[in-house]
Amino acid sequence: MEIIAKVYSGYKETYRKIYKDVVERAYKNNGININPEKIIYQIEELDGETIQSQRSKKNSSRTITIIEDGIIKYIVGLSNTGYDDDKLLENPNFDYGHTGYHANTYFVQGCNKIFDYYLTEKEINKNIKLYFYMLDLNKSHPHDKFNLMIYRKLATIGFDVLNIDQIKFDEYVEMGFSLDEIKSGIKYISFNKFSNDLSFISNKNKGNVPSYIKCIDYSYDINKETDDETEEKFVDLTNQEYIYTFKTLSAEGYDSFLTMWTLSVLAEKENKKLKFMFAPEKYNFRLGQEVPKFTDGFTGPLIELMEKIGLDQEYETTDEVRQQIRREINQYEISKANGTIRNQELFKNNLRKKGIQTKCYLCGCEIENILEAAHLWGVSEIKKCNAHDINDILSNPCMSDLISSESDHSSELFYKKYMLANSGDNGVWLCSNHHGLFDSNFYCFESETGKVIIKLNANEIDKTFFELCTNNKELPREILTDKSKLFLSRREENFNNMNKFNKFK
Ligand SMILES: [Zn+2]
Repeated sequence: MEIIAKVYSGYKETYRKIYKDVVERAYKNNGININPEKIIYQIEELDGETIQSQRSKKNSSRTITIIEDGIIKYIVGLSNTGYDDDKLLENPNFDYGHTGYHANTYFVQGCNKIFDYYLTEKEINKNIKLYFYMLDLNKSHPHDKFNLMIYRKLATIGFDVLNIDQIKFDEYVEMGFSLDEIKSGIKYISFNKFSNDLSFISNKNKGNVPSYIKCIDYSYDINKETDDETEEKFVDLTNQEYIYTFKTLSAEGYDSFLTMWTLSVLAEKENKKLKFMFAPEKYNFRLGQEVPKFTDGFTGPLIELMEKIGLDQEYETTDEVRQQIRREINQYEISKANGTIRNQELFKNNLRKKGIQTKCYLCGCEIENILEAAHLWGVSEIKKCNAHDINDILSNPCMSDLISSESDHSSELFYKKYMLANSGDNGVWLCSNHHGLFDSNFYCFESETGKVIIKLNANEIDKTFFELCTNNKELPREILTDKSKLFLSRREENFNNMNKFNKFK
């Protein structure tokens, strides 16, 4: 058996160091052991005076093609590298390899070319497999959360990273993911989990207007909303549509493409309706930019690739953007006319934007039909407050961004209550059981620690049931933002007035 590792001249020195490992791992992934010393390293020379011009000659330059007895067997796409031996040979004085180089475009920049090469070859031979191999793994940026998420996206859409064992997922623990606990690899197993991570990552980068996912419930009628918490209504999942508003500004385009592919794979699995929307005036600029640079959408090669994969994207017109803004304004006007501060659609989308996991924090239930967005500080309690109370809580420094001074309503008491009631920081996801028990004040959370406290006069049978169905005795740390602690402290005050309490053991 003759095995050739074919590379292009622009990367011949960089890939010379790793090709044996790449090929060995590709075969091993298929249960085959080979002798790496027998692999033939074949370089296809490309024209071009500089390394960069050689690389741009071929779409597939960032790959190693593994050919067995004359037939392509595997294609391996590589990440960019900040420690580039070919460019260093060309220009020994250039400062390559400082930490953080390529940080944002480490994998995504140009990844479409790798997919394109693979899909084209696959038309000729459907048995070809595509893998990825990441470089510079002894440096920090390949291990940052943005890149860890990319490896998970690749796994979800069906492509393995051959040297995944060299990648440390330690940074993911705070997002509720640990390699020790999982059985199914690093794949995302649910749409919600992935969207949660998306918002978590976007929220990290404050300079960017985050692309985010929202859910429109077409059967939601704000006119039927009440501020009575016990009237939680069954949500008809069939009328829900998820909308991902994507960005395409420079390298974000490549990332959006991978994100959309991943979302569509997960949505299809869960029968979720999903739509991709783009509006240049909405998200595709950076905050604080003096002359905002707008983009018109994806570039030609990405659009072609998405067509091949079957990803449809829709473009919002300025009119549609206005319509959406109108929908939000209309909802507010209706709420105000009805005197109802609760807007469950807005509240849930705000909770989604917070980037926390969509599951009951006490029992881990993820069944969407019985997952409810629970208010920490109850809507009816907020409603009862007078102007002094409301202004008092809003005067806390952590609340300073809740009421936008640009809003026409910023001085209205109703508006302030509406914003407090529907703030994502005023919410947690709970299953129907835990929500019901929470709202009936069977238990509460300590505002400082998030620890569960149950009422003292609870009877033994109820307590036993509660203990049986409650796996976690405190809220995860990422939920307890300063705002959330403040909201919770108002609820805790009421709870303590009603009950003496003891700690849940
Ligand atoms: Zn629960």
